[in-house]
Amino acid sequence: MQKTGAMALKNKKTPMRRCVGCMESKPKNSLVRITCYEGNISVDPTGKAKGRGVYLCPDRKCMEKARKKRALQRNFEMEIPAETIEKIFAELEQYEQESD
Ligand SMILES: [Zn+2]
Repeated sequence: MQKTGAMALKNKKTPMRRCVGCMESKPKNSLVRITCYEGNISVDPTGKAKGRGVYLCPDRKCMEKARKKRALQRNFEMEIPAETIEKIFAELEQYEQESD
């Protein structure tokens, strides 16, 4: 029996998560996680921080969409002060990647 190169690609399934901006499911490791733990919202580049998480593409369009539709407030089911939102999105911009 011959081994085919295709077998090498068969590794662990990549978990999929939905971006709260474009609402598309993407591989978890291509998204940026934002967590809410005990009422503190923070960007979680490791994807391992405690708390509830939402995911966003590192894409300005998704960030703007998420911001406009108050995706964080809705997903975390809480009011978030404007300055916190500012801070989070400013931080997210650091993860922004060129698209297309
Ligand atoms: Zn997106």
